[in-house]
Amino acid sequence: MTKHIFVTGGVVSSLGKGLTSASIGMLLERRGLTVRMQKLDPYINVDPGTMSPYQHGEVYVLDDGSETDLDLGHYERFTNSPLSRKSNYTTGQIYLSVIEKERRGEFLGKTVQVIPHITNEIKQCIKGIGGDGVDVVITEIGGTAGDIESQPFLEAIRQFAQEYGKENCMFIHLTLVPYLKVAGELKTKPTQHSVGQLRQIGIQPDLLICRTDRALPNEEREKIALFCNLPKESVIEERDKDFSIYEVPISLLDHRLDELCAKRLGLPSGMPEIDDWRDLLHRLRNPETEISIAVVGKYAEHKDAYKSIYESIDHAGLKHHAQIRIGRIQSEEIEREGPERLLAGYDGILVPGGFGERGIEGKVETIRWARERQIPFLGICLGMQCAVIEFARNVVGLEGANSTEFDKDSKHPVIALLDEQQNVTEKGGTMRLGAQVSQLKPDTKALDCYGHEEVNERHRHRYEFNNSYRQQLEANGLVIAATSKNDSLVEIVEVKDHPWFVAVQYHPEFKSKPTCAHPLFSGFIQAATSQKKREPATTSPETAPIQ
Ligand code: GLN
Repeated sequence: MTKHIFVTGGVVSSLGKGLTSASIGMLLERRGLTVRMQKLDPYINVDPGTMSPYQHGEVYVLDDGSETDLDLGHYERFTNSPLSRKSNYTTGQIYLSVIEKERRGEFLGKTVQVIPHITNEIKQCIKGIGGDGVDVVITEIGGTAGDIESQPFLEAIRQFAQEYGKENCMFIHLTLVPYLKVAGELKTKPTQHSVGQLRQIGIQPDLLICRTDRALPNEEREKIALFCNLPKESVIEERDKDFSIYEVPISLLDHRLDELCAKRLGLPSGMPEIDDWRDLLHRLRNPETEISIAVVGKYAEHKDAYKSIYESIDHAGLKHHAQIRIGRIQSEEIEREGPERLLAGYDGILVPGGFGERGIEGKVETIRWARERQIPFLGICLGMQCAVIEFARNVVGLEGANSTEFDKDSKHPVIALLDEQQNVTEKGGTMRLGAQVSQLKPDTKALDCYGHEEVNERHRHRYEFNNSYRQQLEANGLVIAATSKNDSLVEIVEVKDHPWFVAVQYHPEFKSKPTCAHPLFSGFIQAATSQKKREPATTSPETAPIQ
């Protein structure tokens, strides 16, 4: 019988519930259990695909084309749980489905209500991901206990445990125990209130994970246990990690979190196999070299906008024993200040995906800098499209070359709307999405990296290399390194006579793992490492984000 773990959060948002849930999944999986991960998000958008990165951070795309919350990235990086549409539901999706049923007359004349109709729908979504062969489902509830929006989800998981059997369900609550400088102590009251809120609706947490910036003394643990109606052993600390997020699973293991879950749910005992993860942390702490990579994008100041890209760079750094300092540079700054001041000294340059015209010229300038100065370059999605624009303008001499996304009347529309998009009017879930096969060509950097000709990578775009410019650009030294299987869409371009210049229409960052760096990121970082510049970067690049 599938066991269910529900992870809720309290006191404040941004406590790292996604990371904690992923870590729990990882520890259980490494005890030999089959785990499935799921996130329920309380916002009304049907999915985050239509939300600005400023609102929501990165949109994480799955193989099946669903556009999901970035926490699913943590799930994929930390566990082997296969993810699909069933792994992320929002209030919008739940209501949409219930309203569609109502329109079809499925409720037989009844008044449709939050309880039971919405909560039933939520319970179905939870049940739907478990079943045969699945030992544990971990369901993370987005938002914070006490939010109006979260109520139906909390009510649904309460009902679920009641119906499914409390012995088969476990509630884990992640909370904040802040340090109050003026009082000189850690404060447990917010945690008491947050648990109080859960208990009011009938949920008694089985385990509390307390986020703190320092050790949680025994006395505070006892106090929390007493007020929150838990044994002291079930109150565990999760201290801030100033080194790396990859420490989280190890620190939860040290606090016997997996053992507590196994005991509570009657799962087999055992120790997680975690040596490779410890080895990874060892490598992280003992780099042999240091390089700097500039990520030049529209949303570079937002730490979550290119989350999977930053992570993938780190994975490749781990593989090549390199500590990587990442400089996050807004492409508009390049427009204002020019590439020289901002980019000099970087060992590699990456231009990520994006939408809309703002900052495009800065990206094109950045790519010109990387191409002309022979700096290893990786372009992703819009980054690839900008690379084509740059090449068309500055190598082929096609003045005004552009994408029709930014200039409908461009004289040289080297990037244009995909044919299949011509009649699409709705915005949500209508791009070319999800895993698509690309065929790599011989004698390309891409083939060197992957080592095989057919690759399956995740896409999210409406625009594409305009085939009417293929011949002209190829004749001038642009390499079409991969196309879709029927050769109709260009998937990768490279530049001849450049140490490493690869730009891809898809998103390799969604398939990189800490223990298994993506081949393209690996190739990029290897090229950057071997080309390491002597002069230091002028814009003191930051260390890769750790949360
Ligand atoms: N805006 C471009 C397109 O829709 C690129 C999309 C992206 O970078 N994900 O094709």
